[in-house]
Amino acid sequence: EEHNNVALIVGVTGIVGDSLAGILSVPDTPGGPWKVYGVARRPRPTWSADHPVHYIQCDVSDPKDTRTKLSPLTDITHIFWVTWANRPTEAECCDLNGAMFNNVLTVVVPNAPNLTHICIQTGHKHYIGPFEAFGKIKPHETPFVEDVPRLDVPNFYYTLEDIALDASKKSRGQLTWSVHRPAVIFGFSPYSMMNMLGSLCVYAAICKHENVPLKFPGTKAAWNCYFVAADADLIAEQQIWSCVDPNGKNEAFNCSNGDVFKWKALWKVLAHEFGVEYEEFDESDEYVSLVERMKDKGPVWDEIVKINNLTETKLEEFTFWFADLMFLGECMLDSMNKSKEHGFFGFRNSEKSLVSVIDKMRSHKIVF
Ligand code: NAD
Repeated sequence: EEHNNVALIVGVTGIVGDSLAGILSVPDTPGGPWKVYGVARRPRPTWSADHPVHYIQCDVSDPKDTRTKLSPLTDITHIFWVTWANRPTEAECCDLNGAMFNNVLTVVVPNAPNLTHICIQTGHKHYIGPFEAFGKIKPHETPFVEDVPRLDVPNFYYTLEDIALDASKKSRGQLTWSVHRPAVIFGFSPYSMMNMLGSLCVYAAICKHENVPLKFPGTKAAWNCYFVAADADLIAEQQIWSCVDPNGKNEAFNCSNGDVFKWKALWKVLAHEFGVEYEEFDESDEYVSLVERMKDKGPVWDEIVKINNLTETKLEEFTFWFADLMFLGECMLDSMNKSKEHGFFGFRNSEKSLVSVIDKMRSHKIVF
């Protein structure tokens, strides 16, 4: 097979990894045709099988496994870092995520002489601090802009940036980097550790099954405020742009859809998509988190999966805690000016993005 570039996607079954795998496999994608290696920890799931990707099951937190599986890949030209691992404290997250990234670079940099670029995906926590610092430190002013000083708390995003910068320096600039900082991601992967829409779709499907209206499990602020999101395909497009455009290199970029929306509007769309009764936010209702609402629904979900002949998933795999967190307060807006000024003009209509994610979940039989 003829190809121009060779991608290594670390986290290929994740929320953006899956989009990268799909888009890089299309021959007329910028920089293409691409050959694609995709790394993830678990065996390849059925819903990822239609991407023409060389799938590599590898635990990148294990240096030996990483060396065994990745040292034969001598033709890699671009690395897409779309993975992370969680630990109880951010200091431990810095150690672990730094070690994972170093494990991969230690093997790939010396073995792949044509390696030219590394994309790393971080996010808005660059500006507000890690989860453990929420409410304890003063976040940066919104709308977030890229070129602000770091906050004075540990953050594994900073660790990743430092490692990428250091690798670039050591290569005397032959190796370039880009950092991508998305807002909350609208994407499909049922393996993601933070998938807001996946959780909402499962919630809606359960409401439908139980024939109850779709109540908003958040605060009034979250219902009414302007919100931004980042479509997973759009993030993949921005990363690929940075691989092929000199203006996209050695810089950090925010990534969001380019519009604002309110959850009160998208809630209607979600209810309509699932054929469940839409309900306005009602201040007199007691706040009940999604985690709480879903805590006994495991058997109900199993039943729904069975009677609708869905792909096998467990309720615990959906990340209700993350949707709860997003629905606790007002969204933090970011600015896409820098990305546009550098020449990336991609955008999404957030409402259509929501519908396209639902369609994709349906086509892979995650929901009905
Ligand atoms: P994800 O949780 O959707 O996917 C993670 C991927 O990494 C999976 O393919 C998983 O198999 C793989 N993986 C995990 N540990 C591994 C290991 N030890 N070895 C090999 N593969 C491993 O990832 P994501 O949400 O795209 O997260 C990437 C970055 O984006 C993180 O820094 C995250 O904080 C940030 N981010 C995420 C969101 C969101 O809404 N999900 C929003 C903004 C920023």
